[in-house]
Amino acid sequence: MFNLLRCDNAVLSAQMTMVRVAANGCSELFVDLTFTQFSTLTATTHTIRRYRRDEMINGRCDCGAVSFEIEAVRETVTICHCGQCRRTSGHLWASTHAAYDKLKFTKDDGLQWYSSSDFAKRGFCKSCGSSLFDRMNDEEGIGIAAGCLDLPTNLQVGKHIFVKDKADYYEIADNAPQIDTY
Ligand SMILES: [Zn+2]
Repeated sequence: MFNLLRCDNAVLSAQMTMVRVAANGCSELFVDLTFTQFSTLTATTHTIRRYRRDEMINGRCDCGAVSFEIEAVRETVTICHCGQCRRTSGHLWASTHAAYDKLKFTKDDGLQWYSSSDFAKRGFCKSCGSSLFDRMNDEEGIGIAAGCLDLPTNLQVGKHIFVKDKADYYEIADNAPQIDTY
């Protein structure tokens, strides 16, 4: 175990507890981060699991006007309960993440971007309305709707964010960390 992260005034720090890199030509990275000091964060549990694998996964919108393949995707799904995500998705926004250059569109005729704020946009299919992507304007990565990926995804829920804005008609039933903001 060794220190991995620490902000300047030490109110936020974390330790990496396990890293594994496979040697079979299919590179894997497994990182377990445990926050040791998190007074500036709001969740009660702060374990982040990230697992990327060099394994192609495909996704598409419902009508097929947008389809894509991703070379390496984050194993965890972040579920956002904020008002924007509730409205644009119809319930909540469950997304995994990838480097943008690992995402290749096999069809993007239907892709439309919506600027949902000054700093972020959301991608959807203008033909069938499927919610597909979210992306910060200055981000090198891209969020991808977990629901549009082909099964089996082999993904797992990593955390819930903006739980303070959650709708009132459901409860969170898994054990993933619940964070009031993000
Ligand atoms: Zn579509």
